[in-house]
Amino acid sequence: MKNFDIIVVGAGILGLATAYQAQKAGAKVLVLDAGATAYEASSRATGYLSLRGETPAESPLAQEAEKLWDSLDDELGYPTEWTQKGRIWAALDERELDELKSLYGTFQKTDIPFEFLDGDAMRKLIPCLSPNCLGGIWTSRSGHANPQRTSQAFAWAFNDLGGEIREYTPVLELLAEGGKVKGVRTPQGELHCDKLALCAAAHNSLLLAPLGIHFPLAPVRLEALVTTPMPPLFEQAFIGNGLSIRQTKRGNLHMNGGPYEWVDLEIGKEPAKPNTQIVRNILRRAIETMPVLKGAQFLRSWAGIVDMAPDQMTTIHRFESPAGLVTAACSGHGFGMAPAVGIAVSQLLMNRETAMPVGQLSLDRFKNVAPDWRVRRNWQAGRYNS
Ligand SMILES: Cc1cc2nc3c(=O)[nH]c(=O)nc-3n(C[C@H](O)[C@H](O)[C@H](O)COP(=O)(O)OP(=O)(O)OC[C@H]3O[C@@H](n4cnc5c(N)ncnc54)[C@H](O)[C@@H]3O)c2cc1C
Repeated sequence: MKNFDIIVVGAGILGLATAYQAQKAGAKVLVLDAGATAYEASSRATGYLSLRGETPAESPLAQEAEKLWDSLDDELGYPTEWTQKGRIWAALDERELDELKSLYGTFQKTDIPFEFLDGDAMRKLIPCLSPNCLGGIWTSRSGHANPQRTSQAFAWAFNDLGGEIREYTPVLELLAEGGKVKGVRTPQGELHCDKLALCAAAHNSLLLAPLGIHFPLAPVRLEALVTTPMPPLFEQAFIGNGLSIRQTKRGNLHMNGGPYEWVDLEIGKEPAKPNTQIVRNILRRAIETMPVLKGAQFLRSWAGIVDMAPDQMTTIHRFESPAGLVTAACSGHGFGMAPAVGIAVSQLLMNRETAMPVGQLSLDRFKNVAPDWRVRRNWQAGRYNS
């Protein structure tokens, strides 16, 4: 006998957005998480919406998300701190300037208005930017929000509709019978459902492997930190010198930056997230980028794990077999994408065609990815990229 219409594995922002939409559409939904609600990547993110100029195939979905962000506070009934003031990529040396010129070429394949600016024009937009900034890219579109408040807003809105979240309940196995989803196995026993949404980030790969499904995702650890509140400096989502930096509504500067460290995971276990010397490196680069940060007080630092697909794009896939199973993962930009992904996954789960532009985002694009792709890429545990 089934216990729920839909079980969502993972109470990160993708699982919560999916659960909220499915419950709103009338399904009885249970969310299971191995740990606490949104304790992993979704509360550790910087909080940008990327419009995916770098991967034009997923840009239409990001732009759908952008429209949804504009009314998300009203939709959920809780604040997200969404700030729509544009996005900036800054170059602090000639190498970065060349990279941004090439990136700008890719951006122009989208229908988003991007402009290439010189250093003075960049400093007009962000006066505290280093005199060494040589130029960069700007768009008035996109923005940022508070990851903790947004994830919590989805969770509360889902609860308000009668949805249930069970924390500290790891899914050990996805159950299928007769080519259809049956439910999940947890340490407390089996739970049965008609439909299953797998939103467990890089754990998706581990949970799908016993069903003979290859979802190539590499877990990668990134570092972040936040200052104490500072006077208002800028409102855009800033990227430069290997860092993302935004100023929160309370004035804290919230930043993250590479290099990324590839790691390994175990089913149902929390991944280790030690801080490393990269934090010191982030501080040095932050002061180089915005000299006003010299002497700023740093409040806390943390790390988070994100899932990276070989092409670094979002995946949303509905399986023919087992029928009733849909999975999603966003290659490190799932926070911004979540409002649109939640709609797409819930519509696919409920056997509807989705109005969201997900045509090029299925798992089919990885048919020819070799099982040892991480080794070939040098993306295996213990290695860093820059
Ligand atoms: C430092 C940092 C900065 C980032 N900045 C941005 C940004 O600016 N913009 C952006 O869009 N994205 C950003 N990201 C990425 C973003 O956080 C993720 O893409 C997004 O949160 C993914 O959401 P998710 O729900 O798929 O994953 P998660 O939030 O990781 O949630 C997955 C959940 O699944 C649970 N789970 C795993 N295995 C099991 C199991 N067996 N059983 C039950 N539950 C399980 C986990 O406990 C977890 O809660 C950043 C990430 C980090 C770490």
